[in-house]
Amino acid sequence: MSETILVVNAGSSSIKFQLFAVESSNRLARRLKGQIDGIGTRPRLVAKDAKGACVVDQSWSTSDVAELPDALNQLVLFLRNYVGRLPVAIGHRVVHGGSGFSAPTVVTSSVVQQLERFIPLAPLHQPNNLAPIRIVLERQPQLLQVACFDTAFHRGHPDVADRYAIPETLYAEGVRRYGFHGLSYEYIAEKLREIAPEIAGGRVVVAHLGSGASMCALAAGKSIESSMGFTALDGLPMGTRPGQLDAGVVLYLMSEKGMSAKETEHFLYHDCGLKGLSGISNDVRELLASSDPRAKLALDVFTYRIALFAGMLTAALGGIDSLVFTAGIGENAPLIRRAVVERLAWLGIELSDEANEKSQTRISPERSRVACYVIPTDEELMIARHTLQILRENHSVEFKEKRA
Ligand code: ADP
Repeated sequence: MSETILVVNAGSSSIKFQLFAVESSNRLARRLKGQIDGIGTRPRLVAKDAKGACVVDQSWSTSDVAELPDALNQLVLFLRNYVGRLPVAIGHRVVHGGSGFSAPTVVTSSVVQQLERFIPLAPLHQPNNLAPIRIVLERQPQLLQVACFDTAFHRGHPDVADRYAIPETLYAEGVRRYGFHGLSYEYIAEKLREIAPEIAGGRVVVAHLGSGASMCALAAGKSIESSMGFTALDGLPMGTRPGQLDAGVVLYLMSEKGMSAKETEHFLYHDCGLKGLSGISNDVRELLASSDPRAKLALDVFTYRIALFAGMLTAALGGIDSLVFTAGIGENAPLIRRAVVERLAWLGIELSDEANEKSQTRISPERSRVACYVIPTDEELMIARHTLQILRENHSVEFKEKRA
């Protein structure tokens, strides 16, 4: 196999990975997509090739793959067997790059130390994102590793978008509106240039609706505003996170319900959102299939708030030329898209029922003043592209020299 780039997205109990072959003219071809999940409980490695055929399905006892380093060992063994050699570089998804990291960055021990400072800003994601980076730095220090940040694409926000109305000292120490899902929005901005160049230079609102959900305002392909802020708790209701919440609710939980900071954190990340509101599920598929009125209420709140945020982002852009849906729900749920667009009719957005039902790329008729699209996102390809770019800019050579 030609040179490969490994993309790693490490979570609390799983490592998702994709392997891309670097073909001629630096074209990236996806070769493998897989994950090791159930680390410490029911560890299992599953991977599929580019055609979707399963190439490995292996389980271990809990004690054999108890922690992340064990899972990484297994992943390396599998890749060695399957591919024959190690990748030329690894691109990592890192949720938080703070205010300093505004572009993909070659990882060194000093970069890891700086990124550790953002753990309190993304307590569920950041430690897990950094763990495999540290392990590879120890074991294969010569291997190029690139950190790609969910926050980086939003670093060009105007000052007014970056602020909360709180004292400046807090802003200076990093309490800012960062915005997340940046790799997804960057991919969509690039894809729009390909499929709708006349729109890509205009005012676009993108709704990334997955188990985490946010929205972004793109002006000529650059992010100028996001529904998410300091952490990935803000903005839209999500699978298990509440989205925008009066800070008074948090005070109430702590002072009246006696919840500690840790308990409140757990509650806000795991027990709210569609799951908390419906009392049924965090999965939109289950809610759509349910006849329980609580499921309908949860979905109504979800689509209502997506429409509210679309209005807010339209105001930030001074108008709207296009609305794009992406991620698990955005790409696959015509009923959700319809409910959102119906609320946005006042902006001049119309849907073509048939195109929406089939989740076609353009789901608005020609006459619609605002064009509406469904564009599958590909954050891993974006990470692989960034990693390849850094590799080709000869950073790997410098990097090897620096470490030698
Ligand atoms: P993440 O990457 O944030 O984990 P995804 O973008 O994969 O999430 O989205 C996952 C969510 O997408 C699921 O929780 C589910 O609610 C929703 N989803 C996936 N397929 C469908 C579908 N066919 N209809 C409605 N919702 C779907």
